[in-house]
Amino acid sequence: RHLVCVTATDTAPLCGAHEASGTRSYSAVPQNTEYHPEMGLRVLLGALVRTAARYDVAATPVLSHATSHYVRTYLDLSRRASDANDALESLGYVHHCFSCLHRESRAGLIARPPAECPACGANVRTAGPLWLGQSHDNAFVGEVCDRLTNELGTEERSRDLLTTLDAELDTPTHYDQHHLCRQWGRSASAMDEFLDRLRGAGFAASRTHFGGTTFETDASVGEIETATDPASDPG
Ligand SMILES: [Zn+2]
Repeated sequence: RHLVCVTATDTAPLCGAHEASGTRSYSAVPQNTEYHPEMGLRVLLGALVRTAARYDVAATPVLSHATSHYVRTYLDLSRRASDANDALESLGYVHHCFSCLHRESRAGLIARPPAECPACGANVRTAGPLWLGQSHDNAFVGEVCDRLTNELGTEERSRDLLTTLDAELDTPTHYDQHHLCRQWGRSASAMDEFLDRLRGAGFAASRTHFGGTTFETDASVGEIETATDPASDPG
């Protein structure tokens, strides 16, 4: 394997807090959403994939993680131009509604935002180009997990991170339960209970490594609101 490992600590411009600086450094426009660590990760991955493609190199992320302080990614490099073309197909844009938190992603290097938020009719704001594909490879995450040692005293923490990554759903943006509940004027529930309600309504849901109250799901904001409403419980 040919790996390149990149750490970025300029998370404010990556996440959309300083838009002009992010645009300058990464040739992408971020938006300061409630999933900002993931925004930062996908801006960085998008920039790395585009830079590699310019040299006919395909860069594929095999492991990535982010906090509010840094973004770290490991990319597998291939010298096949066709792989570089494939990698570009995972680039695209996220259109985010700051009024109701609806968001949708569309692949492609030309942004085609919806005329208005399909959920509430407000204006959407567009971030990108971003990497929309999976930001890790589950087989690679498993291999790393098998080789962990406690040499640096971080085995348990690393194992927790890798286990969470392995279970993460492959969606381009995550939600934060507390942020949603504030938006809906509702008190937050225990995370397991919240995710169980979502799954009980037939949606896929997973925790994420981005924070203790964050989750990924295939449900829309409206579907999450209905599915997780404690008032709708029988009895
Ligand atoms: Zn909306």
